[in-house]
Amino acid sequence: MQSIRGKDIGMVFQDPMTSLNPTMTVGRQITEVLTKHQNMTAQEAKRRAIEMLGMVGIPHPASRFSQYPHEFSGGMRQRVMIAIALACRPALLIADEPTTALDVTIQAQILRVLKSLQSEFGTSIILITHDLGIVADLCDRVIVMYAGQIVETGTKREILKQPQHPYTQGLLRSLPRIDQSKDEPLVPIYGTPPDLAKPPEGCPFWARCSFAMHICQQRQPESTTISETHSASCWLQHPLAQEVTR
Ligand code: SF4
Repeated sequence: MQSIRGKDIGMVFQDPMTSLNPTMTVGRQITEVLTKHQNMTAQEAKRRAIEMLGMVGIPHPASRFSQYPHEFSGGMRQRVMIAIALACRPALLIADEPTTALDVTIQAQILRVLKSLQSEFGTSIILITHDLGIVADLCDRVIVMYAGQIVETGTKREILKQPQHPYTQGLLRSLPRIDQSKDEPLVPIYGTPPDLAKPPEGCPFWARCSFAMHICQQRQPESTTISETHSASCWLQHPLAQEVTR
């Protein structure tokens, strides 16, 4: 796995401060993957690391190369993490809530960096996020998960425009809209997620679902194909289910 991690698969974690080694310069942390996986000499690795720092938008990359993580701001540290993850041009980048700890301006900058690197290197990105705005901006395909299970999958358009699973519909209803009037309240998803130490039988969403039927408590719904690209795990999709007026 060590020959795959960092080379074929890169990972950007949620919190860049605890993911970077505070005792090593950022330059050393980038060159480490290059000398290990690409057999580069120290000189070649340094050149590539400085190039990567510039590519992710760090100003004066040559002088920043020898600095430590505490000398960087939160947004810059996250850029360093992205530079490390992409240094070997991996085929796949896994980004776990890469902008959660950052303010919206920096968030937008990081997303722009990810987008441009995606098109430049042809890297596939798996983005783990709870922010549907980021999904709308960055993703092509979406997998919605609840209680550790996939409940709906589809293209971005299918998920955002024609959600079929009550959980996906609830997530979208609870978002503020720009055309929403001041008197129109947000609609939350009532209740709390199940305790996964004692996973419920049946559909994991039944205790919070306003469409729940008897069968939902007893049997886990199978995935139903809605279109070639769209599927949902909900008994409402079953051909024998009652028709529901939303
Ligand atoms: S299977 Fe039942 S409880 Fe689960 S989401 Fe569908 S209607 Fe709701």
